[in-house]
Order: sequence, then structure tokens, then C-alpha cells
Amino acid sequence: MEPSAAPEHPLPRTTGLRTLRRRVLLLLLVPLALGAAWVERPVPPVPGDVVLVVVDTLRADHLPIAGYHRETAPNVDRLARDAVVYDRATSPGTWTVASHASMFTGLWPSFHGAERVPGKETTARPMRREVRTLAEILRAEGFHTAAFVGNNAFVARAFGFDRGFEQFRNDDALAFPPKLAEEVAQWIERQTDRLFLFVNVLDPHEPYEPLPPLDTRFPTKQPDLGSSMTVAVDSGMPVEPRMQAHFVSQYDGEVVVADRAVGAVVNTLVRTGRYDDALVVVTSDHGELLGEHGLAGHGQTPWEPEVHVPLVVKWPRQWRAGERVRRRVSTRAIFDTILASLGIPPPSGVDGRGLDDPHRVWVEDVDSSGNRILAGYGDGGAKVVDVTTPEGSVFSELYDLDASPGELDHVEDDGASGALRFEARAFAALPRPANEQAPPAIDPERESQLRALGYVR
Ligand SMILES: [Zn+2]
Repeated sequence: MEPSAAPEHPLPRTTGLRTLRRRVLLLLLVPLALGAAWVERPVPPVPGDVVLVVVDTLRADHLPIAGYHRETAPNVDRLARDAVVYDRATSPGTWTVASHASMFTGLWPSFHGAERVPGKETTARPMRREVRTLAEILRAEGFHTAAFVGNNAFVARAFGFDRGFEQFRNDDALAFPPKLAEEVAQWIERQTDRLFLFVNVLDPHEPYEPLPPLDTRFPTKQPDLGSSMTVAVDSGMPVEPRMQAHFVSQYDGEVVVADRAVGAVVNTLVRTGRYDDALVVVTSDHGELLGEHGLAGHGQTPWEPEVHVPLVVKWPRQWRAGERVRRRVSTRAIFDTILASLGIPPPSGVDGRGLDDPHRVWVEDVDSSGNRILAGYGDGGAKVVDVTTPEGSVFSELYDLDASPGELDHVEDDGASGALRFEARAFAALPRPANEQAPPAIDPERESQLRALGYVR
């Protein structure tokens, strides 16, 4: 059979089709363009005060806002009802120094430079002098800047964390959260200026020692096991159910202690009439391993219990109250979000993408052996972990967090994960500015104290 003849008037028909397509497109685009204006979020209300509360060592999944079965944090729950909750917030580092410096500068750890010195577990270089901190920027904008710090071993002047704060308090008394909360509350009540307030709550950091009755609030305390899971695991004690239940019960007791401190700060903002106009951010610098992978503590690996942190952002006038954001975000972007809320452009070299702008999420650290660790997240549950040894060898593993949330099984390369691995290598290859500053000297007595307390492995 002969092929059917060509249409008599192919051109007009095609042209007609094109015209029709154009009309359909126009019909679709015009309302879309108009609709875009209708659905665009209103401009966020400009904050009066800015309050950043970092609860040290708080893993996200031990809070009711993440579905935890224990009532560990009623005050965070209450704040969350007025706030945006980010379900997949990830800390940029696995320990205090690297992670706080990222929140203070908007930079990944290898860019702000406050990273562990290989072989010296308890110290890091201070942040590079050239970077600008949130407190420096807000002070220049007229804010009265103050920091109240529980973790004075690491959120310390020696690493540059006092930069920009007119008042920087980190005396030992503030390591006790009720005392910290009392001092913060009294201070807020005396203020008349616009505030940038930073608070670091030390609990639930090791040692886990919630005072009675919180030590027996959750089952089951085993007094013979002590208060540091890191010390127990490092002494060779295997992770088994009785041991894990004990440390989890004590950790959770300390989460209650920390939550009460958060509640006291928030209540003071309410009482002084500052709450409604304030931007209040509650998050953590890193999480904590409580037996996963046979490990305890934090600061060496990018496993999810160490880097998945809570993030609650209460906007002025409770804008977006009750919203949940499921996309993965980095707490590094808190910096950009705060600046953007005030109409302040980010300093040069800073990403500029805030929590609500899609951004790639990385975790960087240098472990005690000098290995450089980089974790990155792709779409869905894809996660890549690259470990570069001091000799330059790279070990790389891919995980699918949806298929294996416990990161027990790594997956083979496929197209999407291969692209993530490629992107991680490209990120690792970016030039980093040198940080010439020497790390502060280590006081051996102080270090052995910290080790005994389980601050370090
Ligand atoms: Zn910490």
C-alpha cells in the first residue's frame, strides 16, 4: 500500500497548530503570572529583637515536635505552635566550635576556618579574622548585643566567639541551665534597647546528670553506669539494651532541663512585651550518638544522630505560625535568614541563601586523626560521606536515608547519587582561604577534666 499522500496544506495546518499552542500558552501564562503575585508570600515583618538560642547537643528526634514519644520539651512545643518548624535541619559540623562558627558567619567550616587541628581533639583554630560575625553586623546596625554561654569550654573567646558582643558572659555558673535562664531573664528585664541576644544552653551535653526528680522521670536510671556514655563506650563497655536505656533516660532528663531554660527565656520575652515583634530561633549545634553504630557522644562522624538538629523559627507577629518545612536545610543559613529579615545584604563570600531558599546542605569536620570529613545531601534520601585521609586517600560511601534511616547499609552508585558524589568532590576542590591563626594552647589539666566529663573522646 502506498504511503498516504502528504496533507494538502501542511504549512497552514502547522502554523495553525503553532498559533493554537501559543494561544493555549498565553491562556495558561496570563493567569499564572497574575497568580504568582497572588500566591507570593507577603514580606515578613521586620523583627524588633533577634534572639538565637542554641541548645547544645540536642538531637532532633528526642523532641515531641519530631514525633518523640516522651514529653521532653513542652516549651519548645509551645514555641513551635507560633513558629516555622524545619523537620530536616542539619548542622554544618559535628561539634560545637565548627558549628557555632557557621551559624555566626554563614560560612561552611572550612571557609570560616574554626576547625579542629588534626591530632588535637579539644582545640581548633579561631575563626578567620576577615569574616564578619552576626554580632558584629547587628551591633553596627544599632542592636545591643549580648551572649550568655553555658558551654564555656568551646563557645569561648579563644575561638573568636565574643566578637561583636558588647557583653559576653560564659562564666562557669552559666553551665547550669536554671542559673543561665535566671541570669538571662534578669538581664532582659533591665534592657531598653533593641537586642541581639545569643544564648547557649549546655544541657543535654554530657555528663548526663539531671537533678532529681528528672533523673528518674524516664525509665530507667542505673546508677552503676555513671553519667557519661562516651566514657563508658571508650572503656570498652558494649552497647546493650540496659546500658542504652540508662543513658537515654538521663539524656532525656537533661532535654527537659534545657527545655525549661528555653521556656524561661521565651516567657521573659512575653512578660517584657518583646515576644510578638521578636525573631526567635531555637536550634542546636549538633546532636548526639546514643549507641547508634556502637558509638556515643559527638564530634567525629556525620551520622544522622550527630547532625540532625531541631530548628524552630518564630517570626515577628507569629508570621507563618504552624508551618512545617520538610526540605533539608542547613543551620548555616540561619545567618542569612536573620540578615535578610532586617534587609541587611550578606557580607561578600557568604552564600546569601536563607532557610527558605533551596540550598545544598554539607557537613564538614576534621576528626582527631586528621581525616577530613565531608557529608552532602542530594534529593530524596541521598547522602554521600567522603573521608579524606591526611595522606590524601578518599573513601566514599553513599546512603539512602529513606531506605535505611539508620545508615546501616550503603548503596551502590546510580545516576543521581553519582551526581551528588561528583558535586561533593567539586565542593571539596573549591579553594579555601588560609587561616593563619594559631589554635589556643591546650591546658593539659583542663583537657583531662573535659575528657573525664565526656566532652571529648
Ligand atoms: Zn556543642
